[in-house]
Amino acid sequence: MQVLEDPYQFQAYCASLDASHALGFIPTMGAIHEGHLSLVRASRRQDEVTAVSIFVNPTQFGPSEDLANYPRHLEQDLALLEKEGVQVVFTPTPEGMYPNGVATFVDVADLGQRLCGASRPGHFRGVATVVFKLFQLAAPTRAYFGQKDAAQVAVVRRMIHDLFLPVELVVGPIVRERDGLALSSRNAYLSPAERHSARIISRALRIIGEAFDSGERSTPRLLMKGTEVIENEPGLRLDYLTAVDGDTLLPVAEAVPGTLIAVAALVGSTRLIDNARVDHDDLYLL
Ligand code: AMP
Repeated sequence: MQVLEDPYQFQAYCASLDASHALGFIPTMGAIHEGHLSLVRASRRQDEVTAVSIFVNPTQFGPSEDLANYPRHLEQDLALLEKEGVQVVFTPTPEGMYPNGVATFVDVADLGQRLCGASRPGHFRGVATVVFKLFQLAAPTRAYFGQKDAAQVAVVRRMIHDLFLPVELVVGPIVRERDGLALSSRNAYLSPAERHSARIISRALRIIGEAFDSGERSTPRLLMKGTEVIENEPGLRLDYLTAVDGDTLLPVAEAVPGTLIAVAALVGSTRLIDNARVDHDDLYLL
């Protein structure tokens, strides 16, 4: 497995691959877990070459967010990726990715303000910018993203479309713990008590899904059921719980199969997100 820190070396490596071979690319911020590995395995099944990037991207963090504390376990991450048969890992530094500071941005203006974009101004501009730059370096055939970050998927899909990027977007399902908690590198921040509270987030999504299956279509009534569950858990503080169209991220008044229920909640000082599409995503593992 090649581990490359220099952007130009990574670009040269990707450019040197046999043009008839598919290159699958999985951008990550590291602290690799089964959610990331599910995307790696999807690429290993489809693509001749699988590339992963590990980069805690400063431009997608707000000034009071967890950039400095974000978990970093490079050696462990590399061992996990090597075991999966990944051929190349790109591990740039912030100076390498932004050698002259940050003057050039990619901004998917309207989508970037929705869901987490409302409470994390500039977050999706940072995401779109770094993903675009990574695509310029890797020039992948396919890029793999997790449904866990549903708004990120919508932003990247729109960017690919608007900028005619020659890459196929593959979206992998959310990998969860046995009690339903979506895997996240940020789960490492949780104390045992917070971890216990956190399981309620996916329970709220499941209850909304069940109400939809029983025939409820009014989103205010569906969301009320989920809000109650979250507000009854003293360890959680709701940021948003909303029902939106998965492509536009705009709220819908009536839920239809595929409507995205998205939630963000604070567990102590850790902000967790989760989502499910009614009638599409199976959350019945609790
Ligand atoms: P991150 O390192 O958190 O930026 O995530 C890198 C990629 O892994 C993103 O496309 C995420 O959506 C995806 N991912 C993170 N957690 C999960 C999960 N629990 N299930 C599936 N994909 C995930």
